[in-house]
Amino acid sequence: MPKLPDPRENADYIIAEAAEEYMKPIKDIASELGITDEELLLHGHYVAKVDFKKLLERLKDKPDGKYIDVTAITPTPLGEGKSTSSMGLVEGLGQRKVNVTAAIRQPSGGPTMNIKGSAAGGGLAQCIPLTPFSLGLTGDINAIMNSHNLAMVALNSRMQHERNYTDEQLMRLSNMERLDIDPTNIEMGWIIDFCCQGLRNIVMGLGGRTDGFTMQSKFGIAVSSEVMAILAVAKDLADMRERMGKIVVAYNKKGVPITTKDLQVDGAMTAWMVEALNPNLLQSLEGQPVFVHAGPFANIAIGQSSIIADRVALKLGDYHVTESGFGADIGFEKFWNLKCRFSGLKPNCAVVVATIRALKCHGGAPIPVPGKPMPEEYKGENVGWVEKGCENLVHHINTVRKAGINPVVCINAFYTDTDAEIAKVRELGEAAGARVALSRHWEHGGEGALEFADAVIDACNEPNDFKLLYELETPLRERINLIAKEVYGADGVDYSDVALGKAKKIEADPELSKLGTCMVKTHLSLSDNPALKGVPKGWRLFVRDILTYGGAGFVVPVAGNISLMPGTGSNPAYRRVDVDVESGKVKGVF
Ligand code: ADP
Repeated sequence: MPKLPDPRENADYIIAEAAEEYMKPIKDIASELGITDEELLLHGHYVAKVDFKKLLERLKDKPDGKYIDVTAITPTPLGEGKSTSSMGLVEGLGQRKVNVTAAIRQPSGGPTMNIKGSAAGGGLAQCIPLTPFSLGLTGDINAIMNSHNLAMVALNSRMQHERNYTDEQLMRLSNMERLDIDPTNIEMGWIIDFCCQGLRNIVMGLGGRTDGFTMQSKFGIAVSSEVMAILAVAKDLADMRERMGKIVVAYNKKGVPITTKDLQVDGAMTAWMVEALNPNLLQSLEGQPVFVHAGPFANIAIGQSSIIADRVALKLGDYHVTESGFGADIGFEKFWNLKCRFSGLKPNCAVVVATIRALKCHGGAPIPVPGKPMPEEYKGENVGWVEKGCENLVHHINTVRKAGINPVVCINAFYTDTDAEIAKVRELGEAAGARVALSRHWEHGGEGALEFADAVIDACNEPNDFKLLYELETPLRERINLIAKEVYGADGVDYSDVALGKAKKIEADPELSKLGTCMVKTHLSLSDNPALKGVPKGWRLFVRDILTYGGAGFVVPVAGNISLMPGTGSNPAYRRVDVDVESGKVKGVF
């Protein structure tokens, strides 16, 4: 690979563009990995889907590789380089001649066009080709939107027909029994894959008798959809088909759930998703295979790459790196207690990514604001802030240890970090029982990630004792209490009246009480208040609502004020995205 542009002087997309001149055709990556031609479904030269069913059947007797999860300390709003470090790790393992694979999540159009950007990594540790990766890839999120919104089409039109016709007419004209849906008790909303605060609360069905049913409704971002969650956890098409019928759309006037199956829309919803179930294959800047499947946002969704992508990759690679979003309280907790529970896979080690800037923020420096210059406080050395901020790091190391697996801290180095700051993180991370590796993958690619790769290899080859935090027999409020106290460090949990009512109902229901628990909480703090940094003490988690995702197989307690539809800020990324009309190349996506 020729020398790439210097990350200190060039934006991520310039580096990606330069690397794309030399990237390998995806069919070569696939054949090096042992994927057969019949299993490879090409989407152009550099992106493919993999027929997971054929591949898993062929390799069913092959043992799995080592399974590594990448998580992080509580991030600043800028992101602390988890995707960058995941890519750095595969490049570092690649430099060590290890047969490595990765699975990351497909970026959402919301952050890509808003302030945070895509999630391809950065510097010399990226997933390419960047433009298709960032802008829709092979259409999985479109399929999710079609599938999900079809349920809402079915709901609203059913409500219109039930309003306009008598029972006898419904039966005679459409062989349909009245569902008697309660318009004031609708569970599901619409989805779109952008951040649009104006769609959080809407009224639909304005007009006449044939213009739909007039009701209040809402939009969430596509990646928060239950259909996305189903893509992340489904084992195969049969499993997806079954789950698709269990989505609770609304309730009838007696409070009984109305599902997608009741609306007879579950088959068609699955039909939209058949192709999306196959994971996508791309590559790192240094040519390692990277699967991309399912969506981000572990704060408001499960936010994990898919179980299918991990199962495929574990059959192909000796070491497989998967990523679970945000801090270990959010992403890793869901990886641990939902994804691994559903898949039955056991991780060998978890990486906690830390940056000096986030540690300084936890130690007392002002919170950086995306799109604004970094506050002055971050420019010089400040070991005191780093030391104080390490309380947050140690908390996350302990969370990983509670899962019974070996933590590796990756200090994702910025070239402005000083030796004394780095030494302090090593000292405190090691004292907390973690391996600590400094990694310069952003600046130097795989060559800069050798210490990191070696630490991960060592951690994977040590015995561990993976165990879940709770059993499905544990009553819901007890589980929430466990997560709040053991993982977030709360003193206890309080409920709104609505949430308390729903919790009691779920606990009393033989089926719902056995579903998993997928918390919704801010990623910007261990607590439910994004302003509280470090390790907040003396606080109680406030659960304001509990949603039921019967198809995905979990209930969703919603903590604090977090919304399932983020907003677009005043200086969004789309202002800087454009197209070179001569070459057709997209500029400014990051
Ligand atoms: P996360 O996955 O934690 O959200 P990303 O990996 O997407 O974070 O990185 C967020 C941004 O930070 C990217 O623009 C990336 O280029 C930048 N970044 C990550 N690591 C470094 C680093 N070591 N030095 C400088 N910039 C970095």
